[in-house]
Amino acid sequence: MRGGCDQLIDVPNHIGGKELQSIDGEWILNYAPSTGEIISRIPKSNIQDVNNAVKVAKEAGEGWGLLSKNERADWLDRIADSLERRFDEIASLESLDTGKPIRISRAVDATRSVTNFRFYAQQIRELEDENFTMENATNHVIRRPVGVGVLITPWNLPLYLLSWKVAPAIGMGNTVICKPSELTPMTANLMMQVIKDSGLPDGVVNLIHGTGSEAGAPLVSHPDVRFVSFTGGTSTGSIVARDAAASFKKISLELGGKNATIILDDCDLEKHMDSIVRASFLNQGQVCLCGSRILIQDSIYDSFKNKFVEAVNHLKIGDPTDENTDLGSLISPQHLEKVSSYVNLAIEEGGTILTGGETPVIGTRFEGGNWISPAVVEGLSHESRCATEEIFGPLVTLHRFSDDDEAVRISNNTRYGLAGSIWTKDSLRGEKIAKQMDTGMVWINTWLHRDLRVPFGGVKDSGLGREGGKWSLGFYSETSNICIMDD
Ligand code: NDP
Repeated sequence: MRGGCDQLIDVPNHIGGKELQSIDGEWILNYAPSTGEIISRIPKSNIQDVNNAVKVAKEAGEGWGLLSKNERADWLDRIADSLERRFDEIASLESLDTGKPIRISRAVDATRSVTNFRFYAQQIRELEDENFTMENATNHVIRRPVGVGVLITPWNLPLYLLSWKVAPAIGMGNTVICKPSELTPMTANLMMQVIKDSGLPDGVVNLIHGTGSEAGAPLVSHPDVRFVSFTGGTSTGSIVARDAAASFKKISLELGGKNATIILDDCDLEKHMDSIVRASFLNQGQVCLCGSRILIQDSIYDSFKNKFVEAVNHLKIGDPTDENTDLGSLISPQHLEKVSSYVNLAIEEGGTILTGGETPVIGTRFEGGNWISPAVVEGLSHESRCATEEIFGPLVTLHRFSDDDEAVRISNNTRYGLAGSIWTKDSLRGEKIAKQMDTGMVWINTWLHRDLRVPFGGVKDSGLGREGGKWSLGFYSETSNICIMDD
């Protein structure tokens, strides 16, 4: 049963610097995933709210786009400073809203949200216009703002992903409307408070809450919106791409994944086991980059399996506010049902559950939450549904391979192509395999080790385009060439 709590927080839309309800006055309830308690309600916005926000963003763009890049970079630094002052609040709100352990929301979510603004401030300051000299003329390649943009984000890393888009988008002179997941509105609201307090001109950053179909879709199709940056599931990404294509908007799509973790026979298991477990189950496996298929070379299969299962059994699942907790709850009852259905499917497909996939006993306070213990499955074909479809939860499948070519073949055997990792003492061998993997990113002997300057994104059904460093600056700007003939 899902219950209420004493204080229901109203989380408003933010349009043109004003905190607003939806024009229709309807609300959506927001639940804490770990307990099932209602923690806030958000406006159920629709096309009327969207039209209002786009109009305001368009007007604000007229002044904002005229600022120099250094002036805009200074604004990003100011926002970073203000966000940093609310670091602990970001961490606890994110933990409450997503069900993830506070330790993770501090180390991953709060830290990166601040860093994203600082990083892009620096990148934008360092950005130079390019010049190409011909025998008798000079070309100046300049960057200008694209216009009004829409930034749509999922629930797994709410402010981490939203700030990753807002900072480069406004830093390049655009104005934006954010549409966070209806499941995790809290830190987006905090970001808007911070932006207001920092004195950023009204209307540069706006935020609309609501469902994907009622608020997200009209934003994507609005004729005055010139670009859409979307992170979310592959099927939603395909709808967004279709809706944006009609008016030739720029789009960036960061979508789902089914990433392979490849364990070669020379892998140092003692050294890397904790990292491999982390790559499987960070944020309850709800990270697009998590390795949900572990491919293990025959000769070390049993040894790896035993050590891996033992390490997984040591993970502490429970109260997200406890500093020692490794795993929290899943995001929603619907998502719990989806992950549980894959546990059942694994059995139907002939797999053996080595551990997990059950409801853990945590305590009465958490009985209304969305809990499942981390599951490890072996014995499935690498072509089974469990091994090829994105589950996006704490379920990994183990598979054997005999040589490097087979590891590559299995790894590439999905519609997805986001990321992967390879674990070996021989980095040349690892790199040779990495070059044959159909993914946008591969880590060797590490995972989620991020340099924000490098390209981030997937191939095949994992997305379109790249974000990160100069790739983001390219996406969030239009380049024009001015060719001047010599006298
Ligand atoms: P969804 O695709 O369900 O939703 C993502 C966002 O899109 C939400 O804000 C949602 O709103 C909105 N939305 C839904 N329908 C539409 C529409 N027709 N038009 C515009 N917006 C719409 O993804 P989840 O939130 O469930 O997130 C999990 C997915 O995100 C996984 O597949 C995961 O792999 C992927 N992901 C990818 C990452 C990457 O970098 N490649 C990083 C993180 C996650 P609402 O939810 O309010 O309805």
